[in-house]
Amino acid sequence: MNIPFVDLGAQYDSIKDEIDAAIARVIRNTAFIGGESVRTFEREFAAACGRSHCVGVGNGTDAIYIVLRMLGIGPGDEVLVPAMTWIATSEAVSQTGATPVFVDIDPEFLTMDPDELETLRTSRTRAMIPVHLYGQAADMPAITEWAERHDIHVIEDTAQAHLSRIAGKTVGSWGVAATFSFYPSKNLGAYGDAGAVVSSDHELADRIRKFANHGQAVKHDHVMEGINSRLDGIQAAILSAKLPHLESWIERRRSIAERYRAGLSGIDGLALPTERPDSRHTYHLFVVRSSQRDALRAHLEDAGIGTLIQYPTALPGMPLYAQHPGNRGTYPVAHDLAATGLSLPMYPELGFEQVDRVCNVIREFHA
Ligand SMILES: *Cc1c(COP(=O)(O)O)cnc(C)c1O
Repeated sequence: MNIPFVDLGAQYDSIKDEIDAAIARVIRNTAFIGGESVRTFEREFAAACGRSHCVGVGNGTDAIYIVLRMLGIGPGDEVLVPAMTWIATSEAVSQTGATPVFVDIDPEFLTMDPDELETLRTSRTRAMIPVHLYGQAADMPAITEWAERHDIHVIEDTAQAHLSRIAGKTVGSWGVAATFSFYPSKNLGAYGDAGAVVSSDHELADRIRKFANHGQAVKHDHVMEGINSRLDGIQAAILSAKLPHLESWIERRRSIAERYRAGLSGIDGLALPTERPDSRHTYHLFVVRSSQRDALRAHLEDAGIGTLIQYPTALPGMPLYAQHPGNRGTYPVAHDLAATGLSLPMYPELGFEQVDRVCNVIREFHA
């Protein structure tokens, strides 16, 4: 029994008729860019996140870039980003001309460590981008309290945590804006590149919408130079077809996490993911930590079980950032996670039998 790391085909099989009908409708209406399906999804997704505005954009990286630009962030500014995240978070900062400044993660929950912020703050710090890594909400109460005190914009990178919650609020509803990716393997995934920004700031959302569409709200009325980063009609229709299932998919991910936790508890040298108190983890990824990570990974591979490493190098450890002005610390926690973290198979269609098999193969390795 081979167990892939992820199986997007299984999800398609489970909702094939809804997806096929949604795609056919867009093709029939020839509303390929913008149009009704995009407006509908934006309305639905804003509501799901508890925000008044959602703007569909081309992908999750553009979403971050666009928000930063529309907040006026650029050359001379510094933006705090976690040392462990997908490179999109720091790339988007650099694209604006600003400097990403890396912040270590906390050892228990693996998100931006609020205790590290004060030493990294300078007079140039204008914004920060906490990432809800693996589906775990960052410590938003502490982060927003600190940011407000210093007049720093908070932009949530929510690419891995659609509908996670902390302290009674959905992630994406804490900062001035939040960015989403709908990359196919994300918890809510399109069938190509897609992304969105949500915000309750009407004026900001309006500028974001124009900037992402060549600086125009009305065709040929360009109020600024923008870019071309739009959500297309087919992707929006697919996302609307999937959105009603997201809640049950998240609950299934949480049950799988429980099953892993029961099956893997008490193994010496294997650390399991923990959930931040008063939060809902949505398990985009189930990441265990082991000092024998590479050997464990090979053992699983031999048994036909797919795993991934998210991510094999913390951003400040990449040669490209070696001399970077934002590389200002030692980042022990992020480097340790890069050396020990292993993502196990995690997707709603994964059967408990398969989870049990993964657990058994891991136990066998430690025996
Ligand atoms: C996937 C991801 C992104 C970028 O999303 P794309 O849609 O691939 O551009 C940004 N940040 C994080 C943390 C991600 O996981």
